[in-house]
Amino acid sequence: MRLDDPKLKKIEPPRLSLADRFFLPQVAAGLLVTGKHILDVLIKDTAITVQYPEVQHVPSPVYRGVHRLNKDEEGRPKCVACMLCATACPAHCIDIVGATAPESWPDREKYPESFVIDELRCIYCGMCEEACPVEAIELTGLYDLTGLSREEMIFDKTKLLSVFDVTRDAEPMKFTTPPPAGTGPTQALESPVS
Ligand code: SF4
Ligand code: SF4
Repeated sequence: MRLDDPKLKKIEPPRLSLADRFFLPQVAAGLLVTGKHILDVLIKDTAITVQYPEVQHVPSPVYRGVHRLNKDEEGRPKCVACMLCATACPAHCIDIVGATAPESWPDREKYPESFVIDELRCIYCGMCEEACPVEAIELTGLYDLTGLSREEMIFDKTKLLSVFDVTRDAEPMKFTTPPPAGTGPTQALESPVS
């Protein structure tokens, strides 16, 4: 299209007032919203933040955090090394090596000799939990596990089983108030999980 085409419609940019040039209406609107929230917190106590870590945050019952490998009544991993979770995982962060179950375990053919999840690669979608036919893998409410290296965030079988040990009674889905100070999952995890 040519610039002198008569069909071309020229639009003049709007003239900004001094207030518009300094974004004063937008700043005032933002301050109004902030002021409303301050008044709501002061008058109606609607604060949704907590003084973490002094006050423990209680995640939603459907929150998906760090995984755990569940144990059965005899303390054995429930996992039967069927690989369904690894197959379903869209992030390809589960690595399992299955082995023939010991003869003293007549209820299954295989067990996971090695079970590793890369918690940094995981997208916490919950597909592994959905896929597992024996409820051996679950996502817990733990949200604040950290590590100083990638290696620390690659959880092996021992680590995943230790997450079960410290979360079996402290699952967010099982309580609606914060766990007592010093007994939350994170504190308990500091020793078994590096
Ligand atoms: S939560 Fe999703 S991404 Fe993470 S291990 Fe399970 S299936 Fe894979
Ligand atoms: S955790 Fe469940 S789905 Fe994954 S290998 Fe074990 S039994 Fe199969």
